[in-house]
Amino acid sequence: MSSETDQLRIFFLPLPTPGHMIPMVEEARVFAKHGVDVTIILTQGNANLVQKNIDHDSNTGHKIKTHVLQFPSAQAGLPDGVENFNSVTNIEMSHTLYRGIHLLQNQIEQLFHDMLPDCIVSDMFFPWTLDVATELGIPRLGFRGCGYFALCSEYCIKRHEPHKSTDSDVVLLPGLPPGTEQKSLGMLMNSFHELEGSYEEYLKTDIGLKAWSLGPVSLWANKDVNQKAERCNIAGREGHEVIDWLNSKEHNSVLYVGFGSLAMLPATQLNEIAHGLEASGHSFIWVVRKKESDEYDQVFPEGFEERMSESKKGFIIKGWAPQMLILEHPAIGGQVTHCGWNSILEGLNSGLPMIAWPLFAEQFYNEKLLTDVLRIAVAVGVKEWREYCEEGTAMVNRDEVEKAVRLLMGGEEEAAEMRKRVRKLQEAAKKAVEVGGSSHANLMDLINKLKSLKVKKI
Ligand code: UDP
Repeated sequence: MSSETDQLRIFFLPLPTPGHMIPMVEEARVFAKHGVDVTIILTQGNANLVQKNIDHDSNTGHKIKTHVLQFPSAQAGLPDGVENFNSVTNIEMSHTLYRGIHLLQNQIEQLFHDMLPDCIVSDMFFPWTLDVATELGIPRLGFRGCGYFALCSEYCIKRHEPHKSTDSDVVLLPGLPPGTEQKSLGMLMNSFHELEGSYEEYLKTDIGLKAWSLGPVSLWANKDVNQKAERCNIAGREGHEVIDWLNSKEHNSVLYVGFGSLAMLPATQLNEIAHGLEASGHSFIWVVRKKESDEYDQVFPEGFEERMSESKKGFIIKGWAPQMLILEHPAIGGQVTHCGWNSILEGLNSGLPMIAWPLFAEQFYNEKLLTDVLRIAVAVGVKEWREYCEEGTAMVNRDEVEKAVRLLMGGEEEAAEMRKRVRKLQEAAKKAVEVGGSSHANLMDLINKLKSLKVKKI
């Protein structure tokens, strides 16, 4: 094989929301580490968030770069600097951002025509990339940012509509159908065989979708503290101080409470969380994203911040936390998670049992995976799906919060069993991304397949 045919060039097109962009950039970095020439298409504001790690990899000799586009803020009707779903303050603004991103479609299509990559890796939110890939005669790989269990459950519900034949809140999911994914070469999944093997199998055999499990990518791509801190460079003053605070705590004594990069809970809900955490008596780090219209003194009980700071019981981060670094710290003993797929994987990579508090998107499926299948989490008991910045009353009260925290952090038998199970998965995750591991083998298989498709085309 000549060096020209041997050199794969892949373009990655992420959706600019941390839960999709971070893992896709990490996936791209893993490809580059294994000899692929990688280009990631981002607008300037988003490139700024991830550029440091890309430059670091490029400086160590990997072929990786960003192709930077200007976001059409004026045309989209958005203030300058709003290029990522993390910066939107309400649902209308998120729809405007979504439309704004699609104003770039022609420009991106032209870029693919000019650059003629060997493969396009596209977020699911850009189905039109399938048409460009087909026109160019190159493979497209889809990226969904969720796990197999959620994907299989979604297909299953579409195919069998079990909710239509019952009045019960509980539905059984017997079997499952597809769209652009089926016409693509396949999907890249940020998961690993030892975690979701049976659902991986189900997706391939019953649904008939090809997929490569390449996870957990955060573990694979980020090897040192700087890389872990620079995964998404959204500034936060408290982020730097939190590690010092953790260093003063005993092993496994601190609970991490985070609801991802998008969710803004109603003030009443935040207030219940504050009461519940304080009443539990356990130490915690809480990443709070409030609505723009709420003030912190409406959100927190009177004197809460001062009490937490003086007693060193609670560390409150307003905005953005270096989540991967925090979760890996030995002082962290458990995690309250909104069941976002990346946060689940990051908790699992750190061997943490969890409190499952799903909010939106596919998170209620993920809750079931955590509590009923893997049995590494206790459910806090949320029953209602709500949009990520919807107004509303509290869905979980302070007593329920306190009870779940005491159960997870109080050294009970049930929590100890969950910890044992999640530690096994932690070990399996590490092995999956090492040479000889399942995800590593999948990447090698995929790279070889893409190379043979390239040779065939030539
Ligand atoms: N994240 C972070 N700091 C924060 C909030 C989120 O580093 O303060 C990262 C987190 O580590 C994860 C991603 O953002 O990699 C969030 O993805 P997830 O799927 O958990 O949830 P989403 O934000 O999409 O709801």
